[in-house]
Amino acid sequence: MSLMSMTDHDAKDALDLQRCSFFFDLDGTLAELQPRPEQVFIPSATLLALARFQAEGIPVAVVSGRQLQDIDRLLAPLQLPAAGVHGAERRHGDGQISRLAIDPQVFQEIQEALIAACRNYPGAYLENKGMAFALHYRQAPDLQEPLRALAEDFVNRHADHLMLQPGKCVYELKPRGASKGEAIKAFMQELPFLGRQPVFLGDDLTDEAGFKVVNQCGGLSIKIGSGETEACQRLDSVADVSKWLTGLLVLLDERPLSFSYKK
Ligand SMILES: [Mg+2]
Repeated sequence: MSLMSMTDHDAKDALDLQRCSFFFDLDGTLAELQPRPEQVFIPSATLLALARFQAEGIPVAVVSGRQLQDIDRLLAPLQLPAAGVHGAERRHGDGQISRLAIDPQVFQEIQEALIAACRNYPGAYLENKGMAFALHYRQAPDLQEPLRALAEDFVNRHADHLMLQPGKCVYELKPRGASKGEAIKAFMQELPFLGRQPVFLGDDLTDEAGFKVVNQCGGLSIKIGSGETEACQRLDSVADVSKWLTGLLVLLDERPLSFSYKK
């Protein structure tokens, strides 16, 4: 599919907001990638649009590789239903949180071994996500191959517990069973997402499982940026996501006002 940008007009034509639910990846979709994950922020226009969706009762969830606490920090003061760590943890529409069961002892051992192994690669950045580990090499692109080999070795040795999740300048070791596709599927079986047309925006390999699920349900899948994808539409950039969202708000404003008069 050629790289194309949907205009605000296209987006409005395609979507009936009152029948949709929205799922967003965070890094590379709602927020520009930065040299280090802690430097990432969501533009205020995007945050305002998400807040407006929530206020209007249009279901919105974030589906990210980050932990829930990190997603909340980036969206504050907004708190949304969210899937963290690629779906390993999930805040449902009713605010309850569920997590995949992991063996803390095993994860402690893996963490210690990873810290020791990473001492050989000073340019690598090991991020502990509690239920997963991320080996970042954005600051040291030469480390891609050695870190891939390292991550594959760990995943092979702990295949009962871990899966490999490659991403942009990162190899993640995520809990077995964690999938953004499964997370979106689970949200769609629950209120307030149940019965609505899912719309999912993402930019990276981990989002492909989500695109597949959304396509199967007759929803709208949107890939941000270039690269092969299962998604049926594209937006060029994080800035375009923000503009697209702001364009959707125009739809809400065009809705006829309804009054309930007091007797
Ligand atoms: Mg992303």
